[in-house]
Amino acid sequence: MQIHTTEFIASYPRENMCPKDGLPEFAFIGRSNVGKSSLINMLTGRKGLAKVSGTPGKTRLINFFRINNRWYLVDLPGYGYAKVAKTKLKELNQMIEGYLGRRQTLALAFILVDANVPPQKADLEFINSMGAANVPFALVFTKTDRLKPSQLAQHTAAFFATLSETWETIPPHFITSAEYRTGREELLKFIEEVMASI
Ligand code: GDP
Repeated sequence: MQIHTTEFIASYPRENMCPKDGLPEFAFIGRSNVGKSSLINMLTGRKGLAKVSGTPGKTRLINFFRINNRWYLVDLPGYGYAKVAKTKLKELNQMIEGYLGRRQTLALAFILVDANVPPQKADLEFINSMGAANVPFALVFTKTDRLKPSQLAQHTAAFFATLSETWETIPPHFITSAEYRTGREELLKFIEEVMASI
């Protein structure tokens, strides 16, 4: 898929306020600092579209971008913040769960996982919650340029080994680097395929 147009539509605090025109949506979510903004900018080819920030938890709303007038890229707030007040965290989780659990036009969620760290409890819990809610998802390993190929293979194998404790099948997954644009073609092709299948 070529990306011809990317338009920021708006940021919404709740699922029921999001656009109702029926275009399919692909959501992006991960722990704060996982490299989500960098990946979104890399995919759309628009530097600075999603804010790449050093401050964890800057995006706290559901951000909608319309791509090629055909689908929405939905930038969700990160999960697993350490520095957010408990009440705010509850609000954030409700917003994320509300969107993912109820959104009829959600085609698939991409769960971003930092390839540089061992399997994280927050990621595994989140993946399991998606399974429980029957949300289709794919995994995206980020920042893979920081690893040697052998380390990358070890880290992804460790992740899948942990996942296999609760999952029978390994979900679709992608190896990416925003730095080197790795995985861009594969991700866009996959989005195209999912759209063709719905
Ligand atoms: P977000 O909080 O998930 O949106 O993460 P950001 O996109 O703001 O990235 C967090 C940090 O990781 C920033 O310092 C980025 O420069 C860095 N980063 C993001 N993607 C990559 C990548 O593919 N390779 C490397 N080496 N660093 C990355």
